[in-house]
Amino acid sequence: MRRRVGGYRSDVSSRNSPTAAPLPVGLRPTRSRVSPRVALERTRRRWRSPAWAEQAACAGQTELFFGPAIETERERLDRERRALTVCATCPVLAPCREHARQFRESGIWGGESEYQRRAALRRAKQTSS
Ligand code: SF4
Repeated sequence: MRRRVGGYRSDVSSRNSPTAAPLPVGLRPTRSRVSPRVALERTRRRWRSPAWAEQAACAGQTELFFGPAIETERERLDRERRALTVCATCPVLAPCREHARQFRESGIWGGESEYQRRAALRRAKQTSS
């Protein structure tokens, strides 16, 4: 028996049917330029805790480095200023910065904001080409 919920067939058997409704855009599998094996290895490397992280000065201060979903511009700037102060005293600033640039991290990493990190990556790309 087939039922329609929100315009999409809800039974499992219709998924492989040529007449099945297409998945919504956000749920469609994305095409990757790398093989699944390479993508998996990249994911593993990204989420493996690096050795230098044990010496991080920011340990236990996650809320300072990654803001809440909603905060005012003034709150964000104040939070980022305090986070950068912690980074300035960190013994592993260089490897942290390198990691964040390599994996396009969000938030404050290695004494850089996302904006500063993107700008640095752009500059590096321009000088290499
Ligand atoms: S450089 Fe900053 S973000 Fe990186 S580990 Fe040190 S305190 Fe944390």
